[in-house]
Amino acid sequence: MTALADLLKRRIAATGPITIADYMSDCLMHPRHGYYSTRDPFGAGGDFTTAPEISQMFGELVGLALAQCWRDQGAPRPFVLAELGPGRGTCMADMLRAAAAAVPGFAGAAQVHLVETSPVLREAQRATLRGHAVTWHDNALALPEAPLFLVANEFFDALPIRQFARDADGWRERMVALDGDRLNLGLSAAAPLAGLDHRLSDTAPGDIVETCAPAGPVMAALSARIAAHGGAALVVDYGGWRSRGDTLQALRDHRPEDPLAHPGSADLTAHVDFQALAAAAPALAHSALTPQGVFLERLGITPRAQALAQKLSGAALDSHVAAHRRLTHPQEMGSLFKVMSFHPKDAAPPPGLER
Ligand code: SAH
Repeated sequence: MTALADLLKRRIAATGPITIADYMSDCLMHPRHGYYSTRDPFGAGGDFTTAPEISQMFGELVGLALAQCWRDQGAPRPFVLAELGPGRGTCMADMLRAAAAAVPGFAGAAQVHLVETSPVLREAQRATLRGHAVTWHDNALALPEAPLFLVANEFFDALPIRQFARDADGWRERMVALDGDRLNLGLSAAAPLAGLDHRLSDTAPGDIVETCAPAGPVMAALSARIAAHGGAALVVDYGGWRSRGDTLQALRDHRPEDPLAHPGSADLTAHVDFQALAAAAPALAHSALTPQGVFLERLGITPRAQALAQKLSGAALDSHVAAHRRLTHPQEMGSLFKVMSFHPKDAAPPPGLER
């Protein structure tokens, strides 16, 4: 049992069941016991890996797409180059290196801003981005008022969600409760939930829907800056359009497990509802929801992979070939992960995406 499990059980015993959002938020970001607050979870020794950690090609191509988009919008300077939830800072470093080499003026005009709450990961980002001036924020609402070119890879899936189960009378919320000494999921009393009226048409009794309250204000903050000053936000994550069902999942040591089994010691995520992100940014246009593999192929990942392969041999070449496949193949991350851009209504989406 984890120290956080103990704390949560005492809290539930004292004040009653908590929402999945409260549970997720403590599991991920509790100042002393939260998963991200206390560790660097990436890579072979960690619990999961992400696209920028799999290959430098991911950050390079995202950086080039944003740099081209910056040029298409008249190369405003200075501008904010930002990332939400930058992990180890690998994606930002790869973006800056690739764009600096290919797009004159881009790196010089970029002011790097990172939105990150984990002190451990801020340190990792500081080390990766040595030599760059970086400003950190706890929240996207603190990003400056300026043209904003931004990436968020596997950020929205880490934001706390609530789950609602529909029955004949309406909605009940799935709550984390106690069953003897065990954490388990129960249901709240039926409650009128006007906020879910729009889901009555595409669900039936027995279905579960998820909502992610913190995603709305983040999208509104990005939208306000991009609509006023120009820019684009590239969101990459697993999920769909109007997601449905229970998508809460836990990963520990690269294996799925019960989300209630090791609070604070497993990564918890939920699928991203891109429709909800779009609804929170009505002042912007958005691209079609595009599979990651299609996006990366359109940006030229295969020729880039071939060029990098020239310098490799043996195990390094094998792992490079495997990384290319992992990022793009439909049975790996290529279809599960989706990309969507949010940009001004009178601007084109970044390369690799269509309206
Ligand atoms: N984008 C990185 C890391 C993804 S993991 C990559 O692709 O490798 C999720 C990241 O979001 C971590 O850096 C985590 O600390 C950060 N994060 C999670 N919830 C957050 C929140 N509410 N506010 C800011 N950062 C958050």
